[in-house]
Amino acid sequence: MRAKEQLEPILSESSEKHDYACMVCGTVLTYGEREQKLVCNYCGKETSSQISCPEGHFVCDDCHSSEALVFLDRMAESEKSTEPREIVEIAFRHPSFSFHGPEHHSLVPAAIMIAMKNRGLKKSDGEPVTVDIVRHGIRRGSKIPGGYCGYAGTCGACVGAGIAIALYLGSTPKRGPQRKEAHAATIAALTKSEDGLVRCCKRATLYGISAAMEVLRDDRGMDLGEIPQLGSCGSWEKNRDCAKEDCIFYPDQTSG
Ligand SMILES: [Zn+2]
Ligand SMILES: [Zn+2]
Repeated sequence: MRAKEQLEPILSESSEKHDYACMVCGTVLTYGEREQKLVCNYCGKETSSQISCPEGHFVCDDCHSSEALVFLDRMAESEKSTEPREIVEIAFRHPSFSFHGPEHHSLVPAAIMIAMKNRGLKKSDGEPVTVDIVRHGIRRGSKIPGGYCGYAGTCGACVGAGIAIALYLGSTPKRGPQRKEAHAATIAALTKSEDGLVRCCKRATLYGISAAMEVLRDDRGMDLGEIPQLGSCGSWEKNRDCAKEDCIFYPDQTSG
């Protein structure tokens, strides 16, 4: 009964996927404090997770994000935009993207590296940014599980800024200065993310690309176009957890 009550408004809103709705039955998901062993309804893999459906369903991160990651992989090659802000907006509107979900962890490095590639900008070693490098970024981002903003003291989309800088610099665990600069990008994104609000993967994505773009601009003199502006969110109406006036990207923020 609870499932039906919750299912109806979600389905009547639109046929888009929402993270707060279970992908199997549409019931609002539970974000628990403890992990439990769960079997994915789609692929049968057993995983531990804090996020599940009260009706007993569970969809693993791979199945949750696989279509979005295929789309990003395609974008790595086909997307012609030179603007990270525009690239993330295209992904936000693509049907494979959930409103919230770990695919946003891949989107941040993808948007930065695609913009660099399309602008013909080089990595710090003078080598071009290739489709392969963009796809490295997508894969690295996909290793950060959903919900880590609440469970691990970091945010996957903010780490996405660090991934972009690490790829640009060719950072490895054994390259001290490069590693430091990649960390600085993640720290810059997390500093923006210290807003005390409940998670929003759209807001986090905008924080992530902003931080990476600012680091590249300030430390490397690299222009990647317009940094996400205050009040520029075009997705807030689809987010039932939207913080509205408390979020810097909420559209009415800059009016008046
Ligand atoms: Zn369910
Ligand atoms: Zn699965």
